[in-house]
Amino acid sequence: MLELLQLLQPPSVAMVHEVANKSNKMQNREYQMQAPYELFKLNYSYDALEPYIDAKTVELHYAKHTKTYVDKANEALSGLQKPGITEAGAYELSKQLDDNVGGILTHQLYFNCLAKPKEKGGVGGVFPTSGPFYEAVKARYGGFDGLKEGLKKGGLSRFGSGWVFLHQDLSITTAPNQEWPRGKKPILGIDVWEHAYYLKYQNRRVEYLDNIFFVINWGYVESLYKSV
Ligand code: MN
Repeated sequence: MLELLQLLQPPSVAMVHEVANKSNKMQNREYQMQAPYELFKLNYSYDALEPYIDAKTVELHYAKHTKTYVDKANEALSGLQKPGITEAGAYELSKQLDDNVGGILTHQLYFNCLAKPKEKGGVGGVFPTSGPFYEAVKARYGGFDGLKEGLKKGGLSRFGSGWVFLHQDLSITTAPNQEWPRGKKPILGIDVWEHAYYLKYQNRRVEYLDNIFFVINWGYVESLYKSV
């Protein structure tokens, strides 16, 4: 829908519907999402990521921020289906839908890529020591440390709110706001919005980015790396 936003004139209602449908179908296929959208399940308790990400932050981030994306996506979806909608209204709602579906997709990836740290009996922070993902990271980044530096650098370079992603081709990109990286296959997404770390780290994004590596579920990342 990005292309719609670049048009000077609002598109026709039919065009908005067509693009909204195409966009939803694409995302449904990739992530088995169904409209109306539902809040995905969190695979761990709010305090599971302590001490690296505090329970209150996980609770607010999941139950409030992410839930709002779900509610706003559904609100836009039902608005778009109402008869008699104006072109300007459809344009606004399609942007709302796009932004909020992006919010759901990015957060689903983020929360799925995290796990209880190993010192608490979890798999968080355990980087593979063999296998195709390990070999590919070694070839491209020299190993885990190089990959971590690349992701940190990306996360720090993103001005304001946004994301740093690792993709299936092992490239690293960043994106503003909740923009889902279309045309790429992200296998890890790190939220660098202040709401992801402010309660514990305040302005210290670098410290958050250092510590998040203790709770990354590399087994999950690797499963996406291997997925077709
Ligand atoms: Mn977030």
